[in-house]
Amino acid sequence: MIKAVTGTKDILPSDIPRWIYLEKTVETVFSNFNYKEIRTPIFEETALFARGIGEETDIVGKEMYTFKDRSDSSLTLKPEMTAAVVRAYLEHSLGAQHSLVKLFYMSPMFRQERPQAGRFRQFHQFGAEAIGSKSPLLDVEMIQIAYEILKSLGLKNLTVKINSLGTSETRENYKNLLKKFLQDKKDKLSEDSRRRFETNILRIFDSKVESDQKIIKDAPKLVDHLDEESKADFEVVKNQLAKFEIPFENDPALVRGLDYYTKLTFEIDSGSVGAQTALCGGGRYDLLIETLGGKPTPATGFAAGIERILLACENEKSFTVSEPAIDIYLVRIDDELESFVSELAGKLRKENLSVDCDYLQRSVKAQMREANKLNAKYVLFIGGDEYKEGLLKLKNMSDSLEKILPLEKIHELISTIKK
Ligand code: AMP
Repeated sequence: MIKAVTGTKDILPSDIPRWIYLEKTVETVFSNFNYKEIRTPIFEETALFARGIGEETDIVGKEMYTFKDRSDSSLTLKPEMTAAVVRAYLEHSLGAQHSLVKLFYMSPMFRQERPQAGRFRQFHQFGAEAIGSKSPLLDVEMIQIAYEILKSLGLKNLTVKINSLGTSETRENYKNLLKKFLQDKKDKLSEDSRRRFETNILRIFDSKVESDQKIIKDAPKLVDHLDEESKADFEVVKNQLAKFEIPFENDPALVRGLDYYTKLTFEIDSGSVGAQTALCGGGRYDLLIETLGGKPTPATGFAAGIERILLACENEKSFTVSEPAIDIYLVRIDDELESFVSELAGKLRKENLSVDCDYLQRSVKAQMREANKLNAKYVLFIGGDEYKEGLLKLKNMSDSLEKILPLEKIHELISTIKK
């Protein structure tokens, strides 16, 4: 039997109510902050991600689902949204209509990572990109939105970590400092980190190897070498977070290796999801729009992983959703009324009621069992002596009270059910 591809997951009908609850929460919070939804294609030209995420990253280097189509174009299933949103922003000149464009999305993403709990090859993210302002208050808005969504989902065990990466000049100077510091310790670093020493030294901070961590812990910190503007912006972020009563930690090891990331970077972790603790990550990327061919435009954003958030919610039992129920199940007592029952179901559905009936010639008892399984609020019995007299029997399943109604008074029945 063919199975789902490793690292992908079916979202079954029983999972859907929790997904919908999350999606509605996300939509409400984004609407409160005046973000408009954007949907981009599942695949893009490979060059977009190579340039927009960076050749040196794990995503581009090792994890992308890249393929040639029949016209020999190199295409890639999107591994993240920022590059795609910026592409759409530039292609449709969205900045010409509004000088600050605030967008949100929910979409599947694809990365060929090693699957484990909370890490998939097809997973879903929601997130935001706000393009056109360099205000640090907009960076705070990103954290606020993410935090508010997670809180609205009832999550408690959260840690907000922040850092500032400064401008690209600051970072160049800092990289030299870091190089000097690591020069005589280089041989003790792991192979990966030795490679990063040459290609992208900041990413040594991402190393999970304990001996690397020991060495890097005493390294000079980027946050202590910021330019004046970045320093001032970082202070604004911290003060504003305090005003919003969002607790945060400074994490000097929170770095992004690419030159177009600037100033604020943040992550929100959960203590309830095992090894993969990050629920969401984001920050400012003032130089990306230029990298993708636009004119210099400051921007900030974040992305959050839906599967991981739902896992945290499940582990914390942070919210419950009620079992989906149908309004009414039609129980057919006489076999020859099959067609009449289906006709009546049609009429009731036109009244916006959720209705089901039997298509398997089941006994009355089996039909009742089905009605219970479906959590039907009402059951309508059709047939027997009552039907011959033009009557129907309606049973309220919550209190078992029964009511006899003449067939022509179907509207009374509808209003009873809708109440
Ligand atoms: P990133 O785009 O790598 O900054 O990731 C943002 C968020 O997406 C992370 O904090 C995770 O919650 C989620 N995420 C990233 N990669 C995966 C994955 N392979 N499987 C599930 N969730 C992921």
